[in-house]
Amino acid sequence: MNAFWVTLSASVILILSIASLPLLNNNNANHFTFADLLSWRSCSFLNEVADLLVTNGTIYTSDDTLPFADSMAIRNGRILRVGSYSFTKALTRPWTKELNLDGKIVVPGFIDSHVHFIPGGLQMARVELRGVNTKDLFVDKIRKAVAKPTGLLIDSAMKLVLPHIPDASVDERREALLRASDHALKRGVTTVVDFGRYFPGSLPEYPWQDFSDVYKWADLSGNMMTRVCLFFPMETWPRLVDLMSKSGRVLSQWIYLGGVKAFADGSLGSNSALFHEPYADDPNNYGLQVVDLDGLYNMTLSSDKSGLQVSIHAIGDRANELVLDMYASLVSEKRNRDRRFRIEHAQHLAPGTVARFGEQSLIASVQPDHLLDDADSATKKLGSERAERGAYLFKSLLTNNAQLAFGSDWPVVDINPLKSIRTSMKRIPPHWEKAWIPSECLCLKDALKAYTISAAHACFLDKYVGSLSPGKYADFVVLSTSSWEDLATEVSADVEATYVGGSMAYSIKPDVKRE
Ligand SMILES: [Zn+2]
Repeated sequence: MNAFWVTLSASVILILSIASLPLLNNNNANHFTFADLLSWRSCSFLNEVADLLVTNGTIYTSDDTLPFADSMAIRNGRILRVGSYSFTKALTRPWTKELNLDGKIVVPGFIDSHVHFIPGGLQMARVELRGVNTKDLFVDKIRKAVAKPTGLLIDSAMKLVLPHIPDASVDERREALLRASDHALKRGVTTVVDFGRYFPGSLPEYPWQDFSDVYKWADLSGNMMTRVCLFFPMETWPRLVDLMSKSGRVLSQWIYLGGVKAFADGSLGSNSALFHEPYADDPNNYGLQVVDLDGLYNMTLSSDKSGLQVSIHAIGDRANELVLDMYASLVSEKRNRDRRFRIEHAQHLAPGTVARFGEQSLIASVQPDHLLDDADSATKKLGSERAERGAYLFKSLLTNNAQLAFGSDWPVVDINPLKSIRTSMKRIPPHWEKAWIPSECLCLKDALKAYTISAAHACFLDKYVGSLSPGKYADFVVLSTSSWEDLATEVSADVEATYVGGSMAYSIKPDVKRE
């Protein structure tokens, strides 16, 4: 009986409050019919009326509770409802805009888990990437720019490029952000995890300068186009703790404070990734431990104690083990909480190490496209047996319950999630006939998740982005294909349009203007 009266009185209040609306707005009073009231009541509140209905598509949501849908109702940039046409249509009104997908596939906006966003934008201008279409040409241009042979540029080797860009003016860095955002949107990337202008040997001050000169400016002036999650040099952890205690993690819908990053070793290309066994082409060299371990441990401990997310660069198998040991010792000392410790790259893993990622609930933040270049160089530097045993073990990591987050490491490799998803599924390096370590190939859904929901989880943004679920931002990508089967086998689709918060931010059609 009680429940009945509560329901009845709630309904009466609702009907009365809705019925009073036309009276407040007398010009429109005679536009409202009894049928309107009934359907208004069915969607409960005015804030559940959609301003955009996306329909007639194959929407892959990255949300296991409803992996596929054909329609999505959106209001104020957020998703209200996902499902069938009639289910979502119920939230529309005559003024609701409709986006007909013509059967095309939609996926959640990609999250690139590892970029250097402003250096990327600066390099687009300085090295004049326009007209440079191949990786070889790109590396060649960079080599000429730094006048030194660099091998594959990964993080630590970026310092060879950096002396040529730190003097960029505030204006140049602001333009670089806009250029970088445009480029990302073109590739379907709506959120990036930015590791900034920070490499061993560079000033830890640079990412902080970019934060105040560029990101805060862009946010205040309405120039943010992609969401960014910012990581800062670990040695500056007290500064980040201080900032977070004043502003919280979420500065706006665009800017999120991530955590801190440090380096454990160098790169394979420069023979400085740290291994248990020496390099095959350099028998006395085991690689380089780029920090003093006690120092790294103390900084990590302090950062973790202060509640910051910690992320450490490790490429060689020995470096990965050192970091795994360190993370394990921190967890055993402190009470259990949701830390989401990250290892950036996790490229070469010793036998038995893979399982530890799952046991310790760690995030492997990996870059599939690096394997295209590394297949040859790892074979040369480590020998084929050793290289194949432990390189880019994506499938094994997933099987062992590790969290996999995909990224590019742009500008080391171009931002291009669709290409990189294809790489993770095919693993065929240039000029190769077959896959490198075929047992590690992923399926499309696993690869998509690593670029969406798992990537969001990996940077604590899964409440806001990463899947097309009610309550999250309506960040999504329209692909050029309507066939899920084609996508799952060939992955030859392109990005046709990118939407951020329900607004078109990129379209392949030149006549379609941004909203
Ligand atoms: Zn990097």
